[in-house]
Amino acid sequence: MKLPFKVNLKNKVAVVTGAGGVICSHLAKVIAECGARVALLDLNKDAAQAFADEINANGGTAFAYETNVLKKDSLEQVKEQIHKDLGLVDILVNGAGGNNPRATTDNEYAELDDAKKQIKTFFDLDVSGVEFVFNLNFIGTLLPSQVFASDMVGRKDCSILNISSMNAYTPLTKIPAYSGAKAAVSNFTQWLAVHFSHIGIRVNAIAPGFFSTKQNEKLLWNNDGTPTVRTGKILSATPMGRFGVVEDLTGATLFLLDSKGSEFVTGVCIPIDGGFSAYSGV
Ligand code: NAD
Repeated sequence: MKLPFKVNLKNKVAVVTGAGGVICSHLAKVIAECGARVALLDLNKDAAQAFADEINANGGTAFAYETNVLKKDSLEQVKEQIHKDLGLVDILVNGAGGNNPRATTDNEYAELDDAKKQIKTFFDLDVSGVEFVFNLNFIGTLLPSQVFASDMVGRKDCSILNISSMNAYTPLTKIPAYSGAKAAVSNFTQWLAVHFSHIGIRVNAIAPGFFSTKQNEKLLWNNDGTPTVRTGKILSATPMGRFGVVEDLTGATLFLLDSKGSEFVTGVCIPIDGGFSAYSGV
C-alpha cells in the first residue's frame, strides 16, 4: 500500500471497530502498514477476517474478532483475547457506525398535504430505529472507549480516534438520528479529550465528507444504479466536486495517531470533505 507519508507505529497495538467496513478496513490496513499489530473488530467476523488475512499476507500482524460495540461484555471478552494475541491496546479507532432506513424520513421537508401521501414522515419515525442509530454511533463509541482506554492509562503515546461526520456541523435532511448521534460523537471527542488530558491519552476525530459506502448507498443510488437527486445535491455542495475515496482519509489519520506529529493535539475533529463544510452554497 502506498502511503502519503509513513509514521512509526511499531510495537503499538491498535483496535479498529467497524473494520469489516469500507472506511475502517482501509484505516486498519494503513495502521498495519506503519508497523502496528491490529485487531479488527466487527459484528461481521467474515468481513473483518478477510481484511486481517490481507494484512497478514502483506507481512503485517492482524487478528479479526466478532464483536458488538453495543455490548460491554462482548467488548470485555474480546479485550481478553486481544491481550493474549497481541498485547495491551495503545490505539483505538472507533469506526463502527452508520445510519438506518428506520430512522430516515422519505422527504426533506414536511408539507401540508403529507397526511394524504403514502410516505414516512417525521411523525412516523419509529423510535426503536432512532434509538438504534443513536446508540450505534454514540454508545458504540463510548463503550469501546471505556473498555480499551483502560489499557492506555499510565502508558505513553496512546490515543483514540473517533469518526464523526458532516452531520455533526449542520444536520443533513432526512436523517435526524444519525445527525444527532454524530454531533454527540464530536462533542464526546472534546469531552473525553479534556477528561483524559492529565493522563496523557489524546482523543481526536476525523469527519469524512461524502463517501459512497454500504451504509449510505440507499440514499445515494437508485435501485437501477443511477444517482439519486441527493447525490447531485451533495456533489454540487462539495467544492472539489467528487465523492471522497478512502485514501483521502489516510494522511489525517496518520497525523492524529502519531504522537510525534500531533503530541499537543487533542479534542480536534478534522473535516476531510473536499470543502463541503466550508461552503455556504453561494
Ligand atoms: P460500512 O457500513 O462500510 O462499515 C461499518 C461497519 O461497522 C460494518 O462492517 C458493520 O458490520 C460494522 N458494525 C455495524 N454495527 C456494528 C456493531 N454493533 N458492532 C460492531 N460492528 C458493527 O460504513 P463506512 O462508510 O465504512 O463507515 C465507517 C464509519 O464512518 C461510520 O462511523 C460512519 O458513520 C462514518 N462515516 C461514513 C461516511 C460515508 O460517507 N460513508 C461519512 C462520514 C462518516
